[in-house]
Amino acid sequence: MIQRSETGLLAGAPLVDPFGRQISYIRLSVTDRCDFRCVYCMSEDMNFLPKRDLLTLEELDRLCTAFVSRGTKKIRVTGGEPLVRRDIMTLFRSLSRHLESGALEELTVTTNGSQLSKHAQELADCGVKRINVSLDTLDADKFRQITRWGDLSKVLAGIDAAQKAGLSIKINAVALQDFNENEFESLIRWAHGRGMDLTFIEVMPLGEVDGHRVDQYLPLSRVKAQLMDTFHLDDIDYQTGGPARYVRVRETGGRLGFITPLTHNFCESCNRVRITCTGTLYMCLGQEDAADLRGALRASESDGPLMAEIERAILRKPKGHDFIIDRTTRQPAVSRHMSVTGG
Ligand code: SAM
Ligand code: SF4
Repeated sequence: MIQRSETGLLAGAPLVDPFGRQISYIRLSVTDRCDFRCVYCMSEDMNFLPKRDLLTLEELDRLCTAFVSRGTKKIRVTGGEPLVRRDIMTLFRSLSRHLESGALEELTVTTNGSQLSKHAQELADCGVKRINVSLDTLDADKFRQITRWGDLSKVLAGIDAAQKAGLSIKINAVALQDFNENEFESLIRWAHGRGMDLTFIEVMPLGEVDGHRVDQYLPLSRVKAQLMDTFHLDDIDYQTGGPARYVRVRETGGRLGFITPLTHNFCESCNRVRITCTGTLYMCLGQEDAADLRGALRASESDGPLMAEIERAILRKPKGHDFIIDRTTRQPAVSRHMSVTGG
């Protein structure tokens, strides 16, 4: 007999939203906590979720497994800082079975790099091949200033360890006005010199932070135009399933990406959803609509209610986002922090 779910979809059928986009990529935030306090991401004095609200590692695994059974091919583990969650490697170890079976094509992580020295080899052993490391400056004092609590030397040691373990690295740098504007060229030469991709990200208006975002905002169109005084940027057709547009820097031979959520609309090819560490499913980073998967997970040992909740949510995935930095009220367009939804 053909099995159908509560919403009438075939069991195991891929998740397709009303605009025909198949959901094949989940970004999973495993904690909202972090050992840094980047100024554009968090305020210094953050209130974190009580531990009891978090999904357990077993629940996170069950959730990922449900998505994998419905066509998810890529899982990015993020946070907060994912590698500060206690026993997080247990989750990587258990998810690696989906890589071994071939159901999952990629398991990856976005990290601030502070704990990489400790975990890089085990990540590689779990089948992780590529990781993103966030790094906005190569100046130790400025690094401390932007992360408030971070130690650049630890991050650089983590990058060394990851490369030694054979992991490919993409560096993510947030472009910030009057902060790292003068460093873009050296960041490019450094990253490409070490065989790493580099992506610049525009500041997004997520959550209240202490400064004003309009003051931090630097349009990447301007950055790109400036870089073209120094470098030849050749458009290339390289896709990672993410929203970055890539060019090749002729002088270094390396890839450079631009993520421009405010100046470019990348929603039409969006194949992803985000899940928070409490099991809230966000169908779009820039919209408030969400579904509570924790309730569905805990309601039953069977995955029926969970699958039904996921299917209903995907049917509500909006066509696109709505970011604006409101220059009148200076309020963020979306009130939750990036560390809650996961970057
Ligand atoms: N802690 C990890 C890290 O820093 O890589 C993972 C989570 S962090 C929220 C993911 C990415 O989001 C980082 O590259 C960070 O720079 C970026 N990010 C955080 N807040 C942002 C904002 N308001 N606008 C743009 N990017 C932001
Ligand atoms: Fe932590 Fe990453 Fe946010 Fe920085 S960007 S505070 S490292 S979660």
